[in-house]
Amino acid sequence: MKFTSSSQELKSLLKSEQDKGKSIGFVPTMGALHSGHLSLIKQAQKECDIVVCSIFVNPTQFNEKSDLEKYPRTIEADKNLIKNYCDYLFAPETAEEVYGDKIELIEFDFGGLENELEGEFRPGHFQGMANVVSLLLKIVTPDKAFFGLKDYQQYKIVCRLVEIIKLKTEIVGCTIIREENGLARSSRNELLSEKGREVASVISYTLNYIKKYHAHFSITEIQEKAKAMIQGILEVEYLEIRDAETLKNITSWENNNGVFVSFAGMIDGVRLIDNIRF
Ligand code: AMP
Repeated sequence: MKFTSSSQELKSLLKSEQDKGKSIGFVPTMGALHSGHLSLIKQAQKECDIVVCSIFVNPTQFNEKSDLEKYPRTIEADKNLIKNYCDYLFAPETAEEVYGDKIELIEFDFGGLENELEGEFRPGHFQGMANVVSLLLKIVTPDKAFFGLKDYQQYKIVCRLVEIIKLKTEIVGCTIIREENGLARSSRNELLSEKGREVASVISYTLNYIKKYHAHFSITEIQEKAKAMIQGILEVEYLEIRDAETLKNITSWENNNGVFVSFAGMIDGVRLIDNIRF
C-alpha cells in the first residue's frame, strides 16, 4: 500500500493507473478504521482493479466542536488494518490539502433529503459531508465509490450528489457490519465504556423487533413502544419510521418505496446511529 498526504501526488499516481486501463474503487473514511470500513475496502477490491482509501476527519461536517476534537485518530493502526487490501491510502494532514487555501462551502440542494432525520439534528452536517465528498471524488476520479448503509441518509445524499455534480462515479451501498451483540460497528464505539458497549445492543434488538412485529401495530404504536424499549438505556434523540426513498413520514406499512427505520441516541456522552429497512 502506497501512502500519501498530497492530493497532487495521489492524482498523478492514479492517472498512471488509469492510463494503464485500471478501474478505481474509492472508500472515503474519517479513520479509526474497523471491520465495517474493511468490508467496504474488500468490496472495492472485488469490484475494481485498484483500491484507494482516504482518511480525513472533515472539520466542516461536525456541528459540535467537542465531537470533532474527541473524534478518535489512530492512523498507524489504520494503516496496519488495511495494508493488505488497499493500494493507495490518502491521508491529508491539513484541511487546505483538500479544500484549498480558503474553505468555501457550496450549498447543495438535495431536494429535502438533507433536512430530514440527521439533517434536523445536525444542522450543516450533510452540506459539509457533501462538500468534502465532492472534492475527494474530483481528486480520485473513481469508477466506483463505496459507502456504508449504516449511514443510509448519507448514502442517499451522495447518490444525488454525483447526479448534481455530473460525475460518472457509481455509488455502491454496502451492508452494515455489526459487533457480535448486534451493535453496528462505529469508530465512536471506541469511546464507549464496556457496559455502554454491551447495553447499546438494545438499539439493533429494537430495530429488529420493529421489522419482525410491525404488522401487529400501527406506525405510531410501534414507534412509541420501541422508544420505550430503548429509553432509560440510551437517551433517544429520535426513532423515526420513514419512506426509504424520500425519508418522509409514512402513513401505512404498505409503502411502495419500502420502510426505513432510523435511530439516533446518546450513551456515555457518545452519539450512536443505526437503521433497518424492510
Ligand atoms: P466514517 O469513517 O464513519 O466516515 O465511515 C466511512 C464509511 O464507512 C462510511 O461510508 C460509513 O457508512 C462506512 N461504515 C462505517 N461503519 C460501518 C459499518 N458498521 N458497516 C458498514 N459500513 C460502515
